[in-house]
Amino acid sequence: MLVVMQTGAPEQQVKDVCERIEALGFEAHPIFGAFKTVIGVTGDTRRLDVGSLESLPGVAECIIIGKPYKLVSREFKKEDTVLSIPTPLGDVKFGGEHVGMIAGPCAVETREQAFAIAAPLALAGVKLFRGGAYKPRTSPYSFQGLAVPGLEILSAIRDKFGMGIVTEAVDNEGVDHVERYADVIQIGARNMQNYSLLKRAGRAHKPVMLKRGLSATLDELLMAAEYIASEGNTQIMLCERGVRTFADHSRNTLDLAIVPAAKALSHLPIIADPSHGTGQRRKVLPLARAAIAVGADGLMIEVHNAPDRAMSDGVQSILPAEFTQLREECDAIAHVLKRSLN
Ligand code: PEP
Ligand code: MN
Repeated sequence: MLVVMQTGAPEQQVKDVCERIEALGFEAHPIFGAFKTVIGVTGDTRRLDVGSLESLPGVAECIIIGKPYKLVSREFKKEDTVLSIPTPLGDVKFGGEHVGMIAGPCAVETREQAFAIAAPLALAGVKLFRGGAYKPRTSPYSFQGLAVPGLEILSAIRDKFGMGIVTEAVDNEGVDHVERYADVIQIGARNMQNYSLLKRAGRAHKPVMLKRGLSATLDELLMAAEYIASEGNTQIMLCERGVRTFADHSRNTLDLAIVPAAKALSHLPIIADPSHGTGQRRKVLPLARAAIAVGADGLMIEVHNAPDRAMSDGVQSILPAEFTQLREECDAIAHVLKRSLN
């Protein structure tokens, strides 16, 4: 952090500010210019109350240079984190040269529906099956998910097809259940800043897929990931799922520029969800291709056997046969980038 003194601030004020910085447990490094003095502050300045320095006599402003997140930052760990999810069908990897795939319906509706979708996806090579048993719906009157019976259906799919399970927890109690059944705990967009839930996920013993909030900046997303990591769980993947913009040609705007931006600041893998990111079935394939081309470490795709009858997100769900095409094309694009889809 830099403390910029007012033009012409007397030396005694600079001395007082330096003393205050050191009394707070940091080091002060004054640099005297012709007109202005700037004081560099070193130490773990994340814990420093900027306001307490800004109010000292002679201080013009404080400039924060370092990022407030640490464990998830690229400065902390230079190499890409490769997240490896063990499943009965083998490990699924996200990051480095690996591009992971997650597919399945928005929600688990019935055992028949979930099995009818899981069977062709297993044939198409999917090793991580998604499906919500707890649904965070905009309306309290919409289908909220089957809860534990839904988790039991997912568990039966794991037993039958060998696919690992990705499913959402919407509250702390839900994490207790989801942790028992799932291979990856999903934290949804609406809960990205639910700090108590993030801390609970940070104490879980399963990897976490953290979705970007509907209007969250990259820094906010990384701070949310830091909450999870700071509790001890560093098995995290980020997920771009579209944000709200003025554009009205799609439900959300899939912000693919966040992929290289996140990789510059963080070592964590970042995947893309073109299903929620566009909200329209016909846009899922082109945006999935683009996500792989831009360097995403994985995809999450909503697939339904009867999208017109789906209890949630049918309009953005593709058919299993369409998924097979998507997978093939994305794999081909990944190969151009010397990566492979798994
Ligand atoms: C979902 O994955 O079905 C979901 C509800 O996603 P999001 O939290 O991104 O809206
Ligand atoms: Mn959905």
